[in-house]
Amino acid sequence: MEQADLIWMNGELVAWEDAKVHVLTHALHYGTGVFEGIRAYETERGTAVFRNDEHVDRLFRSAALYYMPVPYTREQIKAAIHELIGRNGLPACYIRPIVYRGAGVMGLNPLDAPVEVSIAAWSWGAYLGDEGKTKGVRAKVSSWRRISGDSLIPHAKASGQYLNSVLAKIESHKAGYEEGILLDQHGYVCEGTGENLFLVQDGKIVTPSQTNGILNGINRQSVIEIAKDEGVELVERDIARAELYLCDEIFMTGTAAELTPIREIDDRPVGSGEPGPVTKRLQKVFDDALHARDERYLKWNDIVAVP
Ligand code: PMP
Repeated sequence: MEQADLIWMNGELVAWEDAKVHVLTHALHYGTGVFEGIRAYETERGTAVFRNDEHVDRLFRSAALYYMPVPYTREQIKAAIHELIGRNGLPACYIRPIVYRGAGVMGLNPLDAPVEVSIAAWSWGAYLGDEGKTKGVRAKVSSWRRISGDSLIPHAKASGQYLNSVLAKIESHKAGYEEGILLDQHGYVCEGTGENLFLVQDGKIVTPSQTNGILNGINRQSVIEIAKDEGVELVERDIARAELYLCDEIFMTGTAAELTPIREIDDRPVGSGEPGPVTKRLQKVFDDALHARDERYLKWNDIVAVP
């Protein structure tokens, strides 16, 4: 992990090595935190945070779902993200805001524990590797099912929920794959451990719907809008596991992974075994959108003013 100089903690910028929490932090024991993953890109217009508004909105929604009042406004958090990038002098970075229950109360009712907020930013390259982005990655359907709405809130991006992703990620890693694909509680295709999933069948795109227990990724929403603009038909529906083996192309989207093709799933090549034409076309437009090169999507690029 490439360290930066400063981390924003409860309204102040502190040195990276001083950004510490107490060992009795409630979130450490019970997973009572919600967070975001955001990226900022170096563009000709300056450093541009991709869809900052939507990420900060989701952070506040996740917090509300777990009864956490955020002690700052959305505007303050967005301004803090800008300040952090500027003061660290990062031209491009990954940004990790977290809202969590701090120390002071033990036991399962955290309502009297303080709600703390921190934001870190650092340089982070392609999550599934540069080669993964160009050639595609190998994935495996996990033996773990994605958490369901029966016991947790899949719509929230909450710390404790990630034990599910961690199990699937470690399983796929130990078996020699780059990523794990989780099915939902009914056995339909759901998503990767930190990415949404898209299949291409006969030129159309198919993706699990919001009733399949997915996290509705910001990049998923961006690719859906791009596909519409590009005249590619897109269907949201239940997807059977076997469709993963029968379709022409598969790709994943996520802030960390951006748009990454899957070239092999459960040891079967996807289509020709190389990223297909629909994936490559969407990847190009998406990459242009991330880097503020497409007029249609400049609304998504939140430019950080140079101090
Ligand atoms: N699903 C899960 C479980 C995730 O952790 C992520 C990453 N936040 C995604 C999907 C993709 O979401 P986004 O495009 O907003 O990064």
